Amino acid sequence: MGQTPRLFVISGPSGAGKGTLLARVRKRHPNLGLAVSATTREPRPGEVDGVSYHFLDEEEFSRRVRAGEFLEWANVHGHRYGTLKGDVDALLASGTSVILEIDVQGALNVLRLMPDAVLIFIEPPSLEELERRLRQRGTEDEGQLRLRLRNARSELELADKYDERIVNDDVDAASDRLLQIIRSYEG
Ligand code: 5GP
Repeated sequence: MGQTPRLFVISGPSGAGKGTLLARVRKRHPNLGLAVSATTREPRPGEVDGVSYHFLDEEEFSRRVRAGEFLEWANVHGHRYGTLKGDVDALLASGTSVILEIDVQGALNVLRLMPDAVLIFIEPPSLEELERRLRQRGTEDEGQLRLRLRNARSELELADKYDERIVNDDVDAASDRLLQIIRSYEG
């Protein structure tokens, strides 16, 4: 009772384990809305339109940019990704805290528009471990994998702009910490 709904923004390099941590935390915190982003990238096997992302073609994405439907959008790893304003507003209005899982450019843009947003950065234990996890996941071809590793370095350089940082070396400990941080900001 009496919790204040907050906007949380989670970022971190591809392969740092953001998706796994979020899935775990949402099981233990039922009143936490995850805003579904839009993207122009192709769905991976198992991804569901409207659940993983709203998968849009370039034309439809551009139409929505022009219509002002995005809170923020950015080019990430060669594709466009964006947060739909309507989804975030509806969740917050219903009294639910919201989590955005977006890249560092998007996170800093959201912070400018919504200064009360809480920025949380998920770090891999090392770049070597990140590469190992990405290879094990096996969802990217070699070119995409190299690009994601290069981008990881520049993302890590911006981690000190975040309110909170979690090193994901142990998924149980990291998800406990994430839930603890979320609860502490909700008051
Ligand atoms: P993936 O292709 O692995 O699903 O996501 C690649 C990157 O895009 C991740 O770093 C993720 O945080 C970022 N991303 C996902 N949705 C959004 C969004 O709505 N806006 C921004 N700026 N980045 C996003």
